[in-house]
Amino acid sequence: MGMSIEELNNHKDNIILSLNKAEREYESAKTNHILHIILSIMTAGVWVVVWLFIANWNIHKRTNLEKIIDESKASVKDIDNQLRLIPNGDDINTTECPWCAEIILQKAKICKHCGKEVN
Ligand SMILES: [Zn+2]
Repeated sequence: MGMSIEELNNHKDNIILSLNKAEREYESAKTNHILHIILSIMTAGVWVVVWLFIANWNIHKRTNLEKIIDESKASVKDIDNQLRLIPNGDDINTTECPWCAEIILQKAKICKHCGKEVN
């Protein structure tokens, strides 16, 4: 706890980077079964061993990546929730100065631009 908005955003960016990487790896960890059927036929069935090995490897890889992707998504959600609890610049209520029309804080008693009393 006690991380600043900037730290949380940096942390979130890092997680999103690794999440994107994991999603790309997940997509590429697909077995091209049609290619393996052709290779198996061409090698009179010898290739089936390689095919099974690769298919099994990809299933294993995708299972691991799924876990990483789920965990990363949960972390991003968690950080978003933490960010929501921290008041930031956007949450500070502003208003227009009735004298000079510059944007000032609603809480302000004196306009920082024209120096006149407001509210
Ligand atoms: Zn003013």
